[in-house]
Amino acid sequence: MVTRPNDANAHEFNPWLRVVSLIESAGALLGLRDDMIQRIVMPERVLEVAVPVRMDGGNVEMFTGWRIQHNTSRGPGKGGIRFHPSVNTDEIAALSADMSIKCAVVNIPYGGAKGGVKVDPAQLSRGELERLTRRYAFAIAPMIGPDRDIPAPDINTDFQVMSWIMDTVSMLRGHNTPGVVTGKPLSIGGSMGHAGATSLGVTNCTMALLQRLGRMANEQRVVIQGYGKVGAPLVKLLSDRGMKIVGIADISGAIHDPSGIDPRALAKHYEEAKTVVGLPGAESIAADQLFSLPSDIAIPAALGGVIDERVAQSMAASVVVEAANGPTTGEGAAVLADRGIPVIPDVLANAGGVVASYFEWAQDLQGFMWEPELFHRRLEKTMSDAFNAVWSRHLELKVELRETAIALGVERIAEATEVRGLFP
Ligand code: NAD
Repeated sequence: MVTRPNDANAHEFNPWLRVVSLIESAGALLGLRDDMIQRIVMPERVLEVAVPVRMDGGNVEMFTGWRIQHNTSRGPGKGGIRFHPSVNTDEIAALSADMSIKCAVVNIPYGGAKGGVKVDPAQLSRGELERLTRRYAFAIAPMIGPDRDIPAPDINTDFQVMSWIMDTVSMLRGHNTPGVVTGKPLSIGGSMGHAGATSLGVTNCTMALLQRLGRMANEQRVVIQGYGKVGAPLVKLLSDRGMKIVGIADISGAIHDPSGIDPRALAKHYEEAKTVVGLPGAESIAADQLFSLPSDIAIPAALGGVIDERVAQSMAASVVVEAANGPTTGEGAAVLADRGIPVIPDVLANAGGVVASYFEWAQDLQGFMWEPELFHRRLEKTMSDAFNAVWSRHLELKVELRETAIALGVERIAEATEVRGLFP
């Protein structure tokens, strides 16, 4: 079961207890009744499963997996599955609650869920990974389905893992069930336009904030931490809108070019070097200098917890856009707020990915593939509606964008919970 605030070890940093306190603060800000706040806080279902796997050597190893549905009052659960040695109940519970809030903020008809297996997949052969995935999918199969809970890729899981889950559930049900997971390849019900959707959402939010602040895109210098599935498309999308990318970091180091990094030259260099470091014409700098480079917008698009108190104090940019999940610590957020630096929070900024998942699921249910233009038009509309809703609540509530977004999500969940009443 998840840790309760009065449990013995509750004083240690715990992502689940952090989410609980954020939801409770949002509930208090909105003036919700205490019983409603508690209904929203507690996860609806917590499933822990044993995952026995026959290894290549013939022996059987035991792994532990979870699937948690946090809140399904607005629709079926939605959230990724991660394979990582650090996975535990509280981490998955925290991530499932984040998904409830994120789906409500962008107003898509989903609740929040998350799953994971405590394993280091780098230690498994492909055959072992497939057997682990299928046994885990079998174990959580009673809980998932297109109208119950729809997993997606997360850390160390990808389109192949999703394909094995889709196949396992389809075999169990006796018919093709593409809508049980998203992030699938096109050949089995994936969606055109899905790749890069998170980055497009980040771009939409950045443009919308600049407009609200009366700033011109072509006068902005941007630094980006991360050049992966989210960071790499961002370099091109933001450059296309006239912004100058002056610094980028990845796991191997960081580069700086005050005259602006050319996205095509960087993509070509990365293809060969597998790192941004060494791009001709750019200066190599220490990775921890990235956020203090002269810049206007900082976009963390790699790890969690990177903008702590110290980094926030030396942050050169006057706007932060959280493309990564949880890149700012509580202390870092307080410093940025004191310095008057607006932060577009992760639950809004990087929600383009879950909106794309929603569109994939909708296409699977319809059995009808959308053109990429329709996909992109709807994605931009959903993200801009979400930004506008958060911004207007921000002006009313007069709290930071993060607190506003969480409050908006909690408010929408409370509305659905209230109108549905209490069974039985
Ligand atoms: P990814 O694995 O494709 O890329 C991660 C990038 O971060 C890589 O360039 C890596 O080199 C870099 N990195 C790792 N350690 C670093 C370090 N110490 N310093 C600087 N850079 C470092 O991951 P991704 O899918 O791009 O996800 C990035 C972030 O965005 C994560 O927080 C993820 O949870 C979040 N996110 C991703 C999506 C999505 O659609 N992929 C959706 C929502 C949120």
